[in-house]
Amino acid sequence: MAKGYDEHIERKNKVNSFGRELTRRAKSKCELCEATGVSLSVYEVPPVKGDPEIERCIFICDECRDKIDRIKKAKENDFRFLTNSIWSEVPMVKGFSIVLLREMAKKYSWAEQVIEDLYIDEETEEIIKNINLF
Ligand SMILES: [Zn+2]
Repeated sequence: MAKGYDEHIERKNKVNSFGRELTRRAKSKCELCEATGVSLSVYEVPPVKGDPEIERCIFICDECRDKIDRIKKAKENDFRFLTNSIWSEVPMVKGFSIVLLREMAKKYSWAEQVIEDLYIDEETEEIIKNINLF
């Protein structure tokens, strides 16, 4: 087996090993849209590089994952749940939600409005700086 392939598997296993702790943190709800009773999986907030760190991981449902993947084509009412998740106590959930919201604000006024009214503390700004969606 090629080395790159092994590294990929090893990385994947490590990320998946965060699942148990993240399940507890997320209380079995999607950390973005709060859906319950759906399958949740570990999502590494991009850019994905170096060793996986649990602080960069969030626990989300397939629907959110899907929406994030095609955010450039998001419809107006996609991501409305961000107005809640920007208040998350988990720093990465909060930071990532703001990044997604800023992306939505490029197109939709409801998101623009929320961003305008939002106070972002220094710690969160620092996290946001280290997120790159594309
Ligand atoms: Zn979700």
